[in-house]
Amino acid sequence: MLCQYKNELKEMIEEVKGFTNQGKVADYIPALADANSSTLAVAIFNGNDTCFSAGQSNERFTLQSISKVLTLALALMDHGGELVFSKVGMEPTGDPFNSIIKLESHAPSKPLNPMINAGALAVSHLIKGASTEEKLERLLNFVRRLSGNDSITYNSEVAKSEFETADLNRSLVYFMKQHGVITGNVEDLLDFYTKQCAIEVDCHDLAKIGYALATDGAAMNQEEEIMNPYIARIVKTFMVTCGMYNASGEFAIKVGIPAKSGVSGGIVGAVPNGMGIGIYGPALDEKGNSVAGMKLLEAISARYRLSIF
Ligand code: GLU
Repeated sequence: MLCQYKNELKEMIEEVKGFTNQGKVADYIPALADANSSTLAVAIFNGNDTCFSAGQSNERFTLQSISKVLTLALALMDHGGELVFSKVGMEPTGDPFNSIIKLESHAPSKPLNPMINAGALAVSHLIKGASTEEKLERLLNFVRRLSGNDSITYNSEVAKSEFETADLNRSLVYFMKQHGVITGNVEDLLDFYTKQCAIEVDCHDLAKIGYALATDGAAMNQEEEIMNPYIARIVKTFMVTCGMYNASGEFAIKVGIPAKSGVSGGIVGAVPNGMGIGIYGPALDEKGNSVAGMKLLEAISARYRLSIF
């Protein structure tokens, strides 16, 4: 499949690399500010081979909001849809990812979807485990199985940096606790959430995670099922409607691939029927999406006709 087009991927990177100048690396989490804004890398996995097109495709970065897709899948596996969607809604917000406004203006107070911070925090709160360590280990094992990479772990420096500065997320949790969406210890939830966001991958890992979603939860060897197809479908639907923050509508028109971005500059794409895409480009636009990463996905989608619409 696409592997024969490795040179074309390189060409596309060259075409859009200039867009890295139009973005800025996230610095509200201090440890993310060290990223090199000119980096742009892609890996594509189709079940057989990984094609990478830039020297930096082995560079490691943290999942940040991409982790929201994975905790949602795990929470659905832990509890089923009825309980999960009693705590979090299914609708896009049109607001920035860290906004608090709809928690107050909507009754009952319930985050509108699991891809915004409030919704992701409510979902993380549902992950089964007796302690933060146990929950994290369960999540890490899930990510290791999806990516086929047993060495995946989290970056403790990034987690600590976010934990120490996450007062907006803390306020979302306190607000939801007051309204009964969340129970328990706020700091413990923040500890788990910031570690979840700091899980570290490279583009190849991300492409394989995208592939697992693209194949409706099948493992790379196709012999075991990591996630039930219905859960993969729910997750991919959220990726389409809310995966690219409040730019999801424009992204659906221009690219048309279920995708989720994170403020580290990562983007995971899941092309139905068997292709996962992992992108890293830490220079972000004002909505928190990788500027050049989105241009690259647009070029890839156009060239290989990957839009699902
Ligand atoms: N850890 C980040 C936060 O909660 C994730 C945000 C993102 O990647 O959109 O602010």
